[in-house]
Amino acid sequence: MEAAAMKAMVFEGKGMPLILKEIPVPEPAEDQVQIKILACGICRTDLHVLDGELTRPKLPLVPGHEIIGTVTKTGNAVKEINIGQLVGVPWLGYTCGTCKYCRKGKENLCENAKFTGYTLDGGYAEYTVAYAQYCFKLSEQYHNPASAPLLCAGLIGFRSYRMIDPSAANIGMYGFGAAAHILIQIAKAQNKKVFAFTRDGDTKAQQFARALGAYWVGGSSDVPDEKLDSSIIFAPAGELIPKALKDLDKGGTVICGGIHMSEIPAFSYDLLWEERAVRSVANLTREDGLNFFDLLKTTIVHTQTKLFRLSEANDAIDKLRKGEIEGAAVLVMDR
Ligand SMILES: [Zn+2]
Ligand SMILES: [Zn+2]
Repeated sequence: MEAAAMKAMVFEGKGMPLILKEIPVPEPAEDQVQIKILACGICRTDLHVLDGELTRPKLPLVPGHEIIGTVTKTGNAVKEINIGQLVGVPWLGYTCGTCKYCRKGKENLCENAKFTGYTLDGGYAEYTVAYAQYCFKLSEQYHNPASAPLLCAGLIGFRSYRMIDPSAANIGMYGFGAAAHILIQIAKAQNKKVFAFTRDGDTKAQQFARALGAYWVGGSSDVPDEKLDSSIIFAPAGELIPKALKDLDKGGTVICGGIHMSEIPAFSYDLLWEERAVRSVANLTREDGLNFFDLLKTTIVHTQTKLFRLSEANDAIDKLRKGEIEGAAVLVMDR
């Protein structure tokens, strides 16, 4: 039987908790699919949306951009996806295909992009609609809430990782949450030495990093005794940029994987000298997603998740904010 109404956690404005509501099940436009959601991960970016650090969201908004679900309807123009297909919906929800960035193959920088769970409704709900060309078709092995964090933590982590010179041996990860816990498994499979930096004094996260095979673990103010060839900063703390540069070897790169950071303190040019570089990673391309899921065919990645009911989203967000989630938080529908 076709559902007419669904439960959703709805965001109505900066600083307000999400509200559990019954709203109409969305109908797909001609180039969209309707998806019955199995699970949706909670990403740190969602916190930046709720806190107003990412401005001008769609309002009211259903957040969430790490969606795993099954297609229940297809728009008239959709040829590539059939009803019953398992799909993943990522942050990049739509691009124009015609702006100068799209034409250069940099659709992650599209001037007219729409983003799932930010400028498009997302996955904190029982159903959603998504543009078919931006969904990833997934094999049934991903029919599991544990797959949800792959759609952003995994994908953005992977895009960040690909910015690293392949010859880099010592790789730092600052902020050991959802993204780093996936990425360390890929880096380990490629025989990299991973240096995991957690919040100072967070011994639980340090044990977690060690259990996943980190070569070195410490707090973010600790200094490892080897220089790092490259580092990725996942924590939204601007002061980590000069710290990561201090830990970096000549010619190395610091990559900022997050969409928002607190202000970066002034630092001496000495830290950047000798061809060190700092760069950000913005969004993803569909090609990143295809490459990532291709890699997962040969590199086994296990996500560690803490599952919550849809109605528990505020609680889950609170725990993520306090650093109480080991791995990734995931909302599961039908629980
Ligand atoms: Zn574009
Ligand atoms: Zn995300």
